[in-house]
Amino acid sequence: MNIAMPTNLAVGYKSPSQRARVVTEGWATEELYCPACSQDRLTPTPPNTRAVDFECRRCLQLYQLKGKSSAFTGKVIDGAYKTMMAALMSDTAPNLLLLHYSVTAWTVANLLLVPAFAFPPSAIERRKPLAETARRAGWVGCFIVLPRIPPEARINLVLDGQIMPPSSVRAQYQRLLPLKQIAAQERGWTLDVLNVARSLNRLEFTNEDMYAHSEVLERLHPENRHVTDKIRQQLQVLRDTGFLTHVGRGRWSLA
Ligand SMILES: [Zn+2]
Repeated sequence: MNIAMPTNLAVGYKSPSQRARVVTEGWATEELYCPACSQDRLTPTPPNTRAVDFECRRCLQLYQLKGKSSAFTGKVIDGAYKTMMAALMSDTAPNLLLLHYSVTAWTVANLLLVPAFAFPPSAIERRKPLAETARRAGWVGCFIVLPRIPPEARINLVLDGQIMPPSSVRAQYQRLLPLKQIAAQERGWTLDVLNVARSLNRLEFTNEDMYAHSEVLERLHPENRHVTDKIRQQLQVLRDTGFLTHVGRGRWSLA
């Protein structure tokens, strides 16, 4: 991977957004590899393919690429809320690649991957419907709230201009695969509980440490009245999927 971007592709385009689009797409076509398998290139999808920009010819994974000239932190604007939620529940969402480029140097500053199966529904925030005066009045979009995705599932391909070795990127992706085996309807809970466990910032913790944060989970799952039972159950799921080790009665450590 080379982080220098092919600025020559921008020649002939006047609008900054068009220039940015052809340069980022051109870079991705030349430099992106598949994090899910050993394929060393991704293939652009035909123009106007909805929400999917690249595919892997070997493992058939789909990728959506979003590029911008500032860092991706907090919330990322995405498409229609209903479409995104339906895609998550039917496991048909693409993997998401967030590309932050430096517009002065035309280099890739950061490139982050969130695997398709690692978005908890709690990370999809409904936006306000478009105003009556808008062309698509009433349309409801969504934000992807990055901090609600567990750190394990935010995989850096490039971090502050440093290229991460593809072998370590692929290993991180592989480590997440057990999550894919959990039904989409349950997986949100698993990811949310993992995220809370990571937010404790401790290698070892207890059930009580987790219960102390049950309010956070209650807010994300207002329909569930048995949050402590759910936490206990999901800690076991996280043990079975290799994210946690059970070190004693009600005590856990991050794997
Ligand atoms: Zn692949």
